Amino acid sequence: MKVEILGCSGGMGAGQYTTCYRVNEHILLDAGTGLGQLTHDEQLKIKHIFITHSHMDHICFLPLLIDNLFEHLEEPLEVYALPEVLETLRTHIFNWEIWPDFSTLPNEKTPVVRFNAITPNQPLTLEGLTFTAFLVEHIVPTCGYHLVDQQGESLAFTGDTTFGPEVLKELNRLGKLDVLMTECAFPNRLDELAKLAKHLTPALLSEFIQALEHTPKQVWLSHLKPSQTKEIKAELAQLNLQTKMHLLESGEFLEV
Ligand SMILES: [Zn+2]
Ligand SMILES: [Zn+2]
Repeated sequence: MKVEILGCSGGMGAGQYTTCYRVNEHILLDAGTGLGQLTHDEQLKIKHIFITHSHMDHICFLPLLIDNLFEHLEEPLEVYALPEVLETLRTHIFNWEIWPDFSTLPNEKTPVVRFNAITPNQPLTLEGLTFTAFLVEHIVPTCGYHLVDQQGESLAFTGDTTFGPEVLKELNRLGKLDVLMTECAFPNRLDELAKLAKHLTPALLSEFIQALEHTPKQVWLSHLKPSQTKEIKAELAQLNLQTKMHLLESGEFLEV
């Protein structure tokens, strides 16, 4: 499987876009500002979007994408997320005040978008890729996605998470991974904030990787806060992880 990194930053700035990954021409993980990197033709090809959680940096371009596609779509755009996340999106975004409820437009029978509630640990296969949601530990209900392709290659994308017993249990349950795609939002000196906001620091990440029953072949990192990127990178460089670590960059195509 090939993953295109459209956005992987923990914030915005010139050349920096928030979480959005394209796993093939029809399927996205999250809908942050990285989604805006796609041309109109590429946007038209998107059929499925898996959302990790309701935070702005992961969903902000979803309403705009739906608006862009409105008059062109023949089939609804399928959006998948935890029931709590869909409820939040309906209540706070697609509520006719911030944005129209596109799941009822142009009519309820053939809407432009369909919100699909996903159940953790229940696999869904699309275009030769199996997607299984698993719960992580963040400040709002959040899931990651475990992707396995036809060759058996596997990637777990945690979305935003901190390190704790629950997420550890979930990842251990997934077994061997080719790639663990996770985050490292804050530097070590903001440990308290990281734990409060439920994100990772280099020290927490190191603990996390060492606690896993199976060390992933590669760890891909994202979501570094723009104003602390230098500091986080320097701390990551000091880690001695027993795996290949890669800091994601917008615009990359990576093979799992
Ligand atoms: Zn978040
Ligand atoms: Zn985030």
